[in-house]
Amino acid sequence: MSLIVHKYGGTSMGSTERIRNVAKRVAKWARAGHQMVVVPSAMSGETNRLLGLAKELAPERTDTSYDRELDMLAATGEQASSALLAIALQAEGMHAVSYAGWQVPIRTNSAFTKARIESIDDKRVRADLDAGRVVIITGFQGVDDESNVTTLGRGGSDTSAVAVAAALKAKECLIYTDVDGVYTTDPRVVPEARRLQTVSFEEMLEMASLGSKVLQIRSVEFAGKYKVPLRVLSSFTEWNIDIHEEAKSGTLITFEEDEQMEQAVVSGIAFNRDEAKISVVGVPDKPGIAYQILGAVAEANIEVDMIIQNISKGGLTDFSFTVHRNDFARATELLKSKVLPALGATEVIGDTKICKVSIVGIGMRSHVGIASKMFRSLSEEGINIQMISTSEIKTSVVIDEKYMELAVRALHKAFELEQSAA
Ligand code: ASP
Ligand code: MG
Repeated sequence: MSLIVHKYGGTSMGSTERIRNVAKRVAKWARAGHQMVVVPSAMSGETNRLLGLAKELAPERTDTSYDRELDMLAATGEQASSALLAIALQAEGMHAVSYAGWQVPIRTNSAFTKARIESIDDKRVRADLDAGRVVIITGFQGVDDESNVTTLGRGGSDTSAVAVAAALKAKECLIYTDVDGVYTTDPRVVPEARRLQTVSFEEMLEMASLGSKVLQIRSVEFAGKYKVPLRVLSSFTEWNIDIHEEAKSGTLITFEEDEQMEQAVVSGIAFNRDEAKISVVGVPDKPGIAYQILGAVAEANIEVDMIIQNISKGGLTDFSFTVHRNDFARATELLKSKVLPALGATEVIGDTKICKVSIVGIGMRSHVGIASKMFRSLSEEGINIQMISTSEIKTSVVIDEKYMELAVRALHKAFELEQSAA
């Protein structure tokens, strides 16, 4: 008998029919002798619907008291789906009870709409489990020190599930979703994309931060910190498939070194269109310019991703970096109005039609020439690279957005990702 946490995404909870299926699946696991904790998302579309209503009433607001109410509002989505799941489980003849985050409680800081979990009290949940109940805990939310309801940011139910699994020292946290695992890349772009049986935690972390939408990045960080065994699998299999088969399906996120050795050099290709490029042209090349440009951007709370500075010609240089597209207008405006005059630079040029494509793999640590293979295959397709950044286990390039799919397909092929790894 083990303690298992299941997390079900919005699509898996999307209708009463689907909730009934989830209940049957959970009941199967409980009847097999496991102690079960389930963390559901809101029914699909519900969080958007609720936040949309708030926007109708107050389209422009961004203040803290507004954010507090957004959390109060959005948290109801998970409260509803959790109660419905408890009712469905009871209809299956199970003892089941649902709790909102504040009832557990799941304690967070007070950063409304993006709160961080600080601690989880496991007493109440353990007592229920010991009494033979299935415990359902709302995803996405917690409570701060002043008893305000908080939420963890979009996609936050993944993080709730992993945090609950960590607090309860669960044997495994199974993330049931509408895809059947983690793929070498998005199968909608590359039909030959392959499901990975295992992926290392570090690779998963890179992929999540580079644009793979399978798991909320914070949930992966949490899993790493507390070494929570995590599996991503499909909720669209028949609920009554063999439990042993089900327990081995999907993609397991691993921590062990020797399992990682089996992996291919490159495990996946991530891409995103979330960034925009800004260039400050004709900057005098002297100490302090990076600070003057990026310091101003950081002060406005705008995160910068890739950065390049060119060698100077005649004492002038160009400085380029990328920001999230949502911050693009604000960043360009700030640079034009404040930084450009102060630096005596020539102009600020922006480009939103870019994308970032990255190859990720732990094998890059021990193999040379991986990045150059990437550059070669892009050059063979005639794709110009605008920016490059590397870390130990990834190489990212910024290219023209219109070449994104071409680049991803070419790289998938070049690194033979369609073939199964050793
Ligand atoms: N319901 C929340 C959202 O849509 C949290 C989640 O589904 O993970 O973002
Ligand atoms: Mg999700």
